Amino acid sequence: MGRTRRHNEDCFKIDPKRQLYIVADGMGGHNYGEVASEIAVKAIQEFIEKRVGGQAVAESSAEPGSSHTKLLKDAVREAHRKVLQEIDQNLALQGMGTTVVTLLMENGVAAVAHVGDSRAYRVRDGRLDLLTQDHTWVNEQVVAGYLSEEQARVHPLKNVVTRALGSEKDVEVDVVREEVEAGDLFLLCSDGLTTMLNDSEIHQYLTPGKPLDDVCQALVDEANSRGGLDNVTVVLLLAEENRGNA
Ligand code: CA
Repeated sequence: MGRTRRHNEDCFKIDPKRQLYIVADGMGGHNYGEVASEIAVKAIQEFIEKRVGGQAVAESSAEPGSSHTKLLKDAVREAHRKVLQEIDQNLALQGMGTTVVTLLMENGVAAVAHVGDSRAYRVRDGRLDLLTQDHTWVNEQVVAGYLSEEQARVHPLKNVVTRALGSEKDVEVDVVREEVEAGDLFLLCSDGLTTMLNDSEIHQYLTPGKPLDDVCQALVDEANSRGGLDNVTVVLLLAEENRGNA
């Protein structure tokens, strides 16, 4: 929940059976943000469930992971449609929307799809890499060279997202595929974490060997101890030795 918000507009899902992990961060007046993030998370999970049915995704092309990368992208598009549909049916919900970041693991490949400023990171061999690019006004300024990453992180307009599910008719979904190595640690989070801790501070918590539940709790506690200005959601998954699974 954080320290200052009265609602938790973040929503997450861990579905080990389908190797599907989702974090969504809703926005909108009253408590409609939590409506949007819940719709999105549910829609993605149902879409994957329907298409996969608990079975492995059949590989139909030469490049490993390409079919489940597309599947995940389609799932996020479906979530966007579901949020729009809800707004159409209830005008009071106008203006609600949600970010999302989601990871689907299959055959040793992680597909990561996102819209908005929820992020995915990977730690490999002691190195932290950001796998997603925030769809925010401040990040556009960073890319253009007008702001440093640290200036962007604390900028008054840092919450202005340029893409969200439910905000416009169409949504562009970014998706990447990453071949997974044993020992890879993936982190999905809402901006409630990344506005309170910078990347190197987050990295300090992601040391190998610690129980993941403890690491999640420590990150949330740290964000809260720095003010907890927003809802904070952290999901961690570790690729185990010789399994290629998380
Ligand atoms: Ca947030």
